[in-house]
Amino acid sequence: MTKIEPQPGIMDIALYQGGAAHVAGMTNVVKLSSNENPLGPSQRAVEAMQDVAANMHRYPSSDHAALRQAIGEVHGLDPERVICGAGSDEIIAFLCQSFTGPGDEVLFTEHGFGMYRISALAAGATPVEVKERERVTDVDALLAGCSDRTRLVFIANPNNPTGTMISETEVARLAEGIPEGALLVLDGAYAEYVEGFDAGAALIEARDNVVMTRTFSKIYGLGGARVGWGYGPKPIIDVLNRVRGPFNVSVTGLAAAEASVLDTEYVERCRTENAKWRSWLAEALAELGVASDVSCTNFILARFGDQAEAEACDLYLQTQGLIVRRVAGYKLPTALRITIGDEDACRRVATAVRDFKGGARA
Ligand SMILES: *Cc1c(COP(=O)(O)O)cnc(C)c1O
Repeated sequence: MTKIEPQPGIMDIALYQGGAAHVAGMTNVVKLSSNENPLGPSQRAVEAMQDVAANMHRYPSSDHAALRQAIGEVHGLDPERVICGAGSDEIIAFLCQSFTGPGDEVLFTEHGFGMYRISALAAGATPVEVKERERVTDVDALLAGCSDRTRLVFIANPNNPTGTMISETEVARLAEGIPEGALLVLDGAYAEYVEGFDAGAALIEARDNVVMTRTFSKIYGLGGARVGWGYGPKPIIDVLNRVRGPFNVSVTGLAAAEASVLDTEYVERCRTENAKWRSWLAEALAELGVASDVSCTNFILARFGDQAEAEACDLYLQTQGLIVRRVAGYKLPTALRITIGDEDACRRVATAVRDFKGGARA
């Protein structure tokens, strides 16, 4: 028996289940399981990455000044209070590592993003989950779930995998009501899909207990490059920068992200295309008796009669080369999360669900 033991909490972490990418023996497979942008990254991001590729023997900038400047410019934020990470997952980890430990509680909702639990446990803290109200973040439940040990409160707004969001007023009420000494984290992974939404930036300016995390993995189509960022009060960002490795974002990631954030026209186009096919698919599914909440993101949470039907539909979609996401692990066993693909992908999904509902089986 080994005496080499990990820190308490680590072995309670269930390994993260990513979206599948392949179906055995199938070609022409469409991956709609990880909320990736079907249009890919901006051409400018690809070019920027190619331009720096020959420089990969050089370490990247450790202060990310150029990227933070670009983010500040485009979003109207103070670049001094932006921190960049290897995906927003890394910012979530920095927050847990910096502000929680054994005996502390990290609060989130029952259908909340999986990384909140993983990062809380990795830091030795106790994850605490509260109910949602019909797949919508419930501010009252979060406030009731707070204790004097609560250090971090995570909400994704809009949320994954529900696709729903709560109003600015509700978010402000949450920030106002959490205990002193607790920090509210607004995960804005899908913020760019909501036209005109600041993801909570104004609230951050008005308070000292709110931060946001953002990502280049979703609308910017750079999930493979691993770049995200955070924004908050200077004292909080200072803390996070102390635990951040000096070279945590790669040369190519920095270049691609900077070019992407400046290509606002491309973001606009992706948002418009997504909204168009999102309503088309939601309506097509609704006509087949598959309901979904109004989504503010690049996916739909399709609800089936029961778990058996959801799983059978998933298997049938696989035979049609369509990979979607089961969300039983998010306490939604009767639903499937379907990323909004391009027109062809959306039409294929609608056809396959129609055939499934008509009796076709895997
Ligand atoms: C996809 C996603 C992220 C992004 O993670 P990255 O590490 O930036 O790729 C963060 N939060 C939520 C809720 C997400 O769905």
